Amino acid sequence: MWRQDNTALTKDLPVMTNTVTSPIVVLGRGIAGLSAAIALGSAGYPVHLIGRPPATPGGLQLSPNGFRALSSLGLDKAILDKADRLNAVVIKALSTNRHLTEIIHDPKHLHAAVSRQDVMDCLVAKAETLSCIRFTDTEIHTVQLGTEKATLVSVDGDIFSADEVIGADGPKGLACAALTGQNSMPPQPAYRAMRAEIEAAKLPTAFRRPLTLLMLGDGCHMVSYPIKGGSHINLVFCTSADKVTIGWQQRCFSLNPLLSNLTDPAISWANTPLYPAEVLPVWRRAHLTLLGDSAHVMPPHLAQGAGQTFVDAACLKVLLAEKPLAQALDQMAATRSIEVQAITKKAAASGQIMRLGGIASQARNIFIDIAGPHFMNSWLDEVWQAEN
Ligand SMILES: Cc1cc2nc3c(=O)[nH]c(=O)nc-3n(C[C@H](O)[C@H](O)[C@H](O)COP(=O)(O)OP(=O)(O)OC[C@H]3O[C@@H](n4cnc5c(N)ncnc54)[C@H](O)[C@@H]3O)c2cc1C
Repeated sequence: MWRQDNTALTKDLPVMTNTVTSPIVVLGRGIAGLSAAIALGSAGYPVHLIGRPPATPGGLQLSPNGFRALSSLGLDKAILDKADRLNAVVIKALSTNRHLTEIIHDPKHLHAAVSRQDVMDCLVAKAETLSCIRFTDTEIHTVQLGTEKATLVSVDGDIFSADEVIGADGPKGLACAALTGQNSMPPQPAYRAMRAEIEAAKLPTAFRRPLTLLMLGDGCHMVSYPIKGGSHINLVFCTSADKVTIGWQQRCFSLNPLLSNLTDPAISWANTPLYPAEVLPVWRRAHLTLLGDSAHVMPPHLAQGAGQTFVDAACLKVLLAEKPLAQALDQMAATRSIEVQAITKKAAASGQIMRLGGIASQARNIFIDIAGPHFMNSWLDEVWQAEN
């Protein structure tokens, strides 16, 4: 077993104190943990939701498949109420601002952007309406899989024992390590997302339009879209870790007048590691079942990670209406570990294309310009599954 800080567990095992026994523990209080708890709680199962809430800067884009899953979970209206509808994806060259192509969304299909905090607030509000969900805010130190039960030990020494544990503690977390038996820290990813949320009034009007702006550069790309009723713009700039050194904003943004405001050193950018795409082949072992990023590490390039997490939880909810708990978990794990593979591969391939450098990046931009919206639409339609 390994920890996030890679210290040997034997050196600093907490002193064990209370033991709490629950039928179901969900580890992780992010989008996956809350969605899983809502699916289980809606079916009447008592759930103990344990973990630290995530840091929630910035926004998320959600597409028709994500909204369909949110609808099954009874969350679509609350989230849509807080969301900004997006009409199109406009693709430009990052250095010159040249328009390459654009994909207009059919108004019948829901594409929207929403702040992460608003999503979390909606999930927490829904979970709080279900009296069978109990919350504990703590950090888990160890996950152990026994023959009869699974056990979590917190950093304070509290022991949480459960018949079933849902591991929703994000990519490369303790649940994934317990299930796979991997006991070494994953290497730090070579690619980064620099994320910022900026007041719309501080940026050119091009950023404020109700659309996703994708700017493709040389070994890097930028995505932006409005959130919070258009008052703020969510920006994600992806590049290799070795380029994020002092003065990176000046080097990356100063050539394009549209981006020159982003060189302001007062802007705070969150540096997020982007782990390579991975779908675990097995999501359930003994009394532990994974879902969300813990089970599928989804590169953000098609904006599908949270959407697919909602699909995991919606799948579980449908199965819980038909089968006993263990069978529903078995089937969710078996079905979703296959279903999510195609989208994860496509997200990884999109990332490879977006990070092309040098002459290859110029060839990519020319190709996108010539291929036009029809090609891009057919690439993305399968992902968004608007017609299903
Ligand atoms: C740059 C970027 C942009 C993205 N954009 C989009 C987008 O537009 N649309 C989209 O659908 N998806 C997007 N995603 C993906 C999306 O953010 C994730 O798929 C989603 O947040 C996964 O949720 P999760 O709950 O599985 O994991 P996490 O959000 O990582 O949550 C895990 C939770 O577990 C807790 N936890 C972890 N370990 C412990 C422990 N030991 N003890 C206690 N608690 C613990 C954490 O504190 C956290 O609360 C993006 C991702 C990135 C990086």
